[in-house]
Amino acid sequence: MAIERTLVVIKPDGKKRKLTGLAIDRLDQSNLEMVAAKVVKVDRELAEQHYAALKGKPFFENLVKFFLGEFHGFKTCRLLALIYEGENAVAEVRRIVGATNPEEADPHSIRGSFGKINPKNGIMENVIHASGNTEDAKREIALWFGEGNIES
Ligand code: UDP
Ligand code: MG
Repeated sequence: MAIERTLVVIKPDGKKRKLTGLAIDRLDQSNLEMVAAKVVKVDRELAEQHYAALKGKPFFENLVKFFLGEFHGFKTCRLLALIYEGENAVAEVRRIVGATNPEEADPHSIRGSFGKINPKNGIMENVIHASGNTEDAKREIALWFGEGNIES
């Protein structure tokens, strides 16, 4: 099995609801190692680039606003970004995080335990981001941490 790296971001709902420590605790139940951590000031450009693959979807604008913390009262949006490393890191983190739709996610997962769908706009407020595949992980790690900015 390949040693991989994957990106995790605690989303504004997770931050607002004080779930950061719990999310890290759940991820600590794996054999993965946290190899980088950074609080990032998120602007619209970063939010739109992070979700570039979803541009054109009807929910894109509300998703960007959600990610910028606009629905959770954050004027400046600072989010915790983490990199986890280890065997099968991408799939392993996704297993702990759970499926995109919190109503369908395994109830033992972070999203299944704590996520919800915003009744006003249908956005899935699912607490935590995790890269979907190794290609996304590489792109997202470069986007959030920059090339060569991670301790080896
Ligand atoms: N999302 C949503 N409605 C949808 C699909 C996605 O609100 O129908 C949001 C949700 O917050 C999700 C994010 O957009 O986590 C990114 O979507 P993606 O399909 O990449 O899901 P993920 O990889 O986060 O599970
Ligand atoms: Mg995704």
